[in-house]
Amino acid sequence: MSRKEAIKKLEQTLIRRRDAIRRALKGDLSLFQELHQEKTGDVLDAAADSVQDELNSQLIEVEARELSAIDEAIARMRDGSYGHCAGCGRSIPLTRLRAVPYATDCIECRRKSESKAKRGGVSWNRVYDEADATS
Ligand SMILES: [Zn+2]
Repeated sequence: MSRKEAIKKLEQTLIRRRDAIRRALKGDLSLFQELHQEKTGDVLDAAADSVQDELNSQLIEVEARELSAIDEAIARMRDGSYGHCAGCGRSIPLTRLRAVPYATDCIECRRKSESKAKRGGVSWNRVYDEADATS
């Protein structure tokens, strides 16, 4: 499968997930459960039940955040910028996009920005020093 085809497939996955979340946010979890069951089967049956039981504000918040991430990813797929790292501009590997379809950066840039965020903003020199020490 070419990268283009793989991204096309991811777009379809995202659109389905977006529809499911939209409906879940309106209180209709049927489509949401369907998607989860497809993926994980029995394990999530119980989880889906508890989701049904406690459609709480926390879940809604998480799903609403995911929804906007999905919207942005679909917009990037349409304008052609999807799959390019916002940090270094290189192509994000398909394995990462399959795991996190709305990823905007590659693993290396993600790690860098995470370690930066953890320290509340450090100089790039220190980030590089740390990377050298651990590799
Ligand atoms: Zn990058």
